[in-house]
Amino acid sequence: MTPRVGISAQPRTVETVLGPTLLHTASRFYVDSVRRAGGIPLVLPVSAPDDVPALLDAVDALVLTGGGDVAPAAYGAEPWPETGFVDEARDAFDLALVREAVRRGMPVLATCRGMQVVNVALGGSLVQHVPAVTGAEHRHYDRYDEGVHPVRVEPSSELAAALGRCELEVNSLHHQAVDVPAPGFRPVAWADDGTVEAIEQEGNGRLVAVQWHPELMERHPEQQGLFRRLVLQAAAAG
Ligand code: MN
Repeated sequence: MTPRVGISAQPRTVETVLGPTLLHTASRFYVDSVRRAGGIPLVLPVSAPDDVPALLDAVDALVLTGGGDVAPAAYGAEPWPETGFVDEARDAFDLALVREAVRRGMPVLATCRGMQVVNVALGGSLVQHVPAVTGAEHRHYDRYDEGVHPVRVEPSSELAAALGRCELEVNSLHHQAVDVPAPGFRPVAWADDGTVEAIEQEGNGRLVAVQWHPELMERHPEQQGLFRRLVLQAAAAG
């Protein structure tokens, strides 16, 4: 069985021959990372939260992609001035996607916004602007495919097993981060400024959530290993 890997789409309004049109998009980096790992990519458009069980029936694993900020109301906070690019339809769909995937014990790889969605979906909260809290800038768009800051990984974590190392350099294209982890979750990687760079759920070896973008680090085999692990877990479950 070749596992089918759902990739959550990012809706974007793009100029087309129809004029400005909402497209449900996924970058070629996610699609290619899934294919290289031996999976069949299937982009999941943002739909009604009620559609989530039927959509997840069609896939064996799930990748949660990057994008804008989660609406702070979802974790009981007032928006800071720096919070932006909120898409409430996407939030509602992505939050439902995470809850159902975790309920099913489906293999999940969450990246950047995806990690923030996981934390909020299961009861955690976010730092709304990292530079305002730690003074460190975590947005390095011009070096999107290379390591720009070190992370230290908890040796006993699933993440360390997947990466095969506990110290590495990662890319960084975020300005928010996990604040209070969701109940039953623990931080398993940190940047030098203390920013949480990965979380895991106790007792769930099938969910890895990282604050960076492994799909963009195509020249770094340990990063592509996160996709290989996801596909292997999906194949074993099928
Ligand atoms: Mn970072």
